[in-house]
Amino acid sequence: MKLRTFGTTGIEVPIIGQGTWPVPDRDALRRGIELGMTHIDTAEMYGDGRSEEVVGEAIAPYPRESLFLVSKVLPSNATRTGVVRACERSLRRLRTAYLDCYLLHWRSDVPLDETMAGLEQLVRDGKIRSLGVSNLDPWDLREAAAALERERIACDQVLYNLGERTPEAHELPWARANGCALVAYTPLARPKRGEKVLDGIAARHKVTPAAVALAFLVRDPVTFAIPKANKLEHVEANAAAADLELDTAEIEAIDAAFPARERTGALPTN
Ligand code: NAP
Repeated sequence: MKLRTFGTTGIEVPIIGQGTWPVPDRDALRRGIELGMTHIDTAEMYGDGRSEEVVGEAIAPYPRESLFLVSKVLPSNATRTGVVRACERSLRRLRTAYLDCYLLHWRSDVPLDETMAGLEQLVRDGKIRSLGVSNLDPWDLREAAAALERERIACDQVLYNLGERTPEAHELPWARANGCALVAYTPLARPKRGEKVLDGIAARHKVTPAAVALAFLVRDPVTFAIPKANKLEHVEANAAAADLELDTAEIEAIDAAFPARERTGALPTN
């Protein structure tokens, strides 16, 4: 499993991790961990905490330091004190003493400086090792970064897949310039039109088209992907993506088959 440094955290993290919504299957998560997908993404929102409970059960047999656990606070809990209380509830459900990264799930009308102050408090208290955001465009990212006193934004988790490549022109440049990781959620969604291209590359490398799609998304040195899989064959196919190196001609073929569109409005979320 290929690792890379997660933003400015200095922590080496598998480039392919595991999503947990809808509520995941405990044994599928464990298979993924055994294959090296130790970056696990969850959120208090997922099943009203049920997803975090299943993750807590799945990770129980593994040394805590072998995992990179991420959860997210709901915007409705993202006040300065609310974020601390929400994190404590997540820690209990996950049965762990700390999170490796804790994210604001999306922006609401709670001022970002309040949320960032709460997240920095959690870092000082040793309850989270790093902080990040999700669904923030560069405009919001700048505001969140400016609100921080000591910490830096470790990641922005965004909708990024072969059908939605607009983060490449917006959030990715911000991430590169600011030592921030870009994490692709819903990474497997894609339009059918370019499938033949993926099939051809997949056959050449003896992997699945899904693995080719994932390898394309993590071709940049700051990107990660967190596919969700309940089926064991899907878990195994996703893990294989981490070791798949696409050559320049293959990247160009995928780029042409799934062209990036211009984004005029807000960062899409579905
Ligand atoms: P996804 O990972 O792109 O797709 C999941 C679907 O793909 C499932 O139906 C799964 O089936 C199937 N699948 C998985 N691996 C496959 C493979 N190798 N070949 C074919 N099909 C495969 O979409 P997602 O679940 O929306 O996103 C992933 C994670 O991102 C979520 O679980 C969540 O943790 C996170 N997320 C974050 C946000 C946010 O706002 N920050 C929003 C959405 C999602 P099986 O389960 O049957 O194997």
